[in-house]
Amino acid sequence: MRKKIVVGNWKMNKTVAEASELASAILEQLGNGIVGCEVGIAPAFPSLTEVGKIIEWSDIRLVAQNCHYQEEGAYTGEVSVRMLESLGCAYVIVGHSERRQYFGETNQTVNLRLRKALSEGMQVIMCVGETLEERESGITERIVTEQVREGLKDVGDLGGVVLAYEPVWAIGTGKTATPEEAQDVHASIRATIQDMYGDLPAQHLRIQYGGSVKPSNAAQLFSMPDIDGGLIGGASLKANDFVAIVKAAG
Ligand code: PEP
Repeated sequence: MRKKIVVGNWKMNKTVAEASELASAILEQLGNGIVGCEVGIAPAFPSLTEVGKIIEWSDIRLVAQNCHYQEEGAYTGEVSVRMLESLGCAYVIVGHSERRQYFGETNQTVNLRLRKALSEGMQVIMCVGETLEERESGITERIVTEQVREGLKDVGDLGGVVLAYEPVWAIGTGKTATPEEAQDVHASIRATIQDMYGDLPAQHLRIQYGGSVKPSNAAQLFSMPDIDGGLIGGASLKANDFVAIVKAAG
């Protein structure tokens, strides 16, 4: 039985004060109520320290939105895994479609980031997903399979890995994949993992869905057999909505 995982990706939103306020409100509303579900929040880098202090003694995990694959050095504007670890991050997101779309991220650089994070003992949420054009051309499965295979290249152990299926056309657009559409892709991802790693790792791997998840559609999405929680963008910026989504998973 896989424990569901719901993570709020705050993207480039909220000042440090605003992020602290949101983290406090989520903590207060969740209280000790997180039982059946792992919960994380991913503020922007400048807010990690303060948000980390607020959730330090709770079960909420601190998540970073990206990391670099080098140890350290002359990489202006980048953040290393060791830096994130020193702030208490338990997870880092890699390969978000916005990074692929706007910052030149490829399956190869996603793989480098993922392997660097795992080698430092940090857990990773690796995002995959097709564009609208790819879906309409009927190549969703091919694209997603390629992202999974190349993103996980040379990764021997999936212990620290969570995948997030996020159809690009559903991110921030208000269009959600139907539970059945999402389930189909999740099942195909699990089949790819089974082919690469065998039965047990495939059964244990958690695959989140992301793309306009809201309190009104979360329960239905999370009830599908291969959907193990959600990566939540817009709705994670409101404590009430995020907590309602967490409760739909728990
Ligand atoms: C995301 O960016 O990971 C995401 C799923 O965004 P939204 O929920 O706003 O579609």
